[in-house]
Amino acid sequence: MVKAIVGANWGDEGKGKITDMLAKEADIIIRFQGGANAGHTILNAYGKFALHTLPSGVFYAHTTNVIGNGVALNIPVLIEEMRSVTERNVPAPKLLVSDRAQIVMPYHILFDQYEEERLGGKSFGSTKSGIAPFYSDKYAKIGFQVSELWEEELLREKLQRVCEMKNVLLEHFYHRPLLQPEELLDTLRGYRDQIAPYVCDVSVFLDQAIKEGKQILLEGQLGTLKDPDHGIYPMVTSSSTLAAFGAIGAGIPPYEIGQIITVCKAYSSAVGAGAFVSEIFGEEAEELRRRGGDGGEFGATTGRPRRMGWFDCVASRYGCRLQGTTDVAFTVLDVLGYLDEIPVCVAYEIDGEATKEFPTTGKLDRAKPIFKTLPGWKTDIRGIRAYEDLPENCRRYIAFVEAEIGYPITMISNGPGREDIIYRKSALRS
Ligand code: GDP
Repeated sequence: MVKAIVGANWGDEGKGKITDMLAKEADIIIRFQGGANAGHTILNAYGKFALHTLPSGVFYAHTTNVIGNGVALNIPVLIEEMRSVTERNVPAPKLLVSDRAQIVMPYHILFDQYEEERLGGKSFGSTKSGIAPFYSDKYAKIGFQVSELWEEELLREKLQRVCEMKNVLLEHFYHRPLLQPEELLDTLRGYRDQIAPYVCDVSVFLDQAIKEGKQILLEGQLGTLKDPDHGIYPMVTSSSTLAAFGAIGAGIPPYEIGQIITVCKAYSSAVGAGAFVSEIFGEEAEELRRRGGDGGEFGATTGRPRRMGWFDCVASRYGCRLQGTTDVAFTVLDVLGYLDEIPVCVAYEIDGEATKEFPTTGKLDRAKPIFKTLPGWKTDIRGIRAYEDLPENCRRYIAFVEAEIGYPITMISNGPGREDIIYRKSALRS
């Protein structure tokens, strides 16, 4: 059985915690898209970790962790992350890297930085991890596959060709130092030696694992609204964040994905620029940011303060629909325990008309939130393990959100730890 764990919104919904929790029963955890640009924060018996590239299953000795072909593989970051977890007493994770994954080159990171600097205030809010230049090159067919690290002649020729093109831009457009193909060849030789122990044909491994009935998790990065096709283009990431892409980014048949767990946070947060209709500001936002997540809502990769907002039913319903949600994991609900009343965005007003459908970017920029206010529960719900034991107003909040988004909330997370989870039967469960 393959399960996907994906985000409904802008990312940071708590996918890392849900993956870490479900990994207990899983054999294989796969990253299928994105790169070291976003992070998952995980709290467990070994401590608190921010993972950027490693799958969130690395904390269990029984799991195999896979970097799929769809990932933007930053080899030095991956190796450093392996070192940083083992240094903190986590047993060395079993790791496999697809021979078809492509490599984030040092110049991808440089181009990302140069472009953000050039754009100044009009930037995309990139984390400058080289992700957009990486995927541009991949689809322009000038990327470097892991398997090519063992093809020296090809590497040498291709580096010459690619550097020639890149150097025109560096010299005449960005006015920056030029790339040296020989230097890059040396870097790639170093990458080859570092990654060699992990490289394999991942799709063959997964084909066998599926036949043996192994439990497999696909771990998504970011969320629906950052998808290049269905998100808030152009303020999106450069690889698909949808569960469907799990099949492509891991190399498995789409029909094997039997469960799609979409993670929704009980309020909203976003990093970087782009439309965020239910956003709040000032004191109200600061308090939610300070109390949010586990120790405040700050980016796991950048440390940037996250933009805050109330739960957005329009965006979440859309986010769940595009993921193909079978289950919603509703997270960070404990954080809302301080509020007398909780506003929820139930519709958008666009050009004088109310809508519950998530629009394209131009209209989205003109959308204003229509809020409905629900009563708070004013208690700390951490430690509660049964749905019936939640305060009545808390259950009402969950039921209201479920009815608005139209997908079954079957898991409720009320704390950052693995054990902070409440399973719930949903009437919407088909
Ligand atoms: P991801 O990228 O989707 O994994 O999200 P983040 O790494 O931003 O995780 C969200 C943050 O919230 C992390 O610091 C988690 O430890 C924390 N977290 C996850 N679930 C819960 C929860 O139910 N309650 C609280 N208080 N914190 C949570």
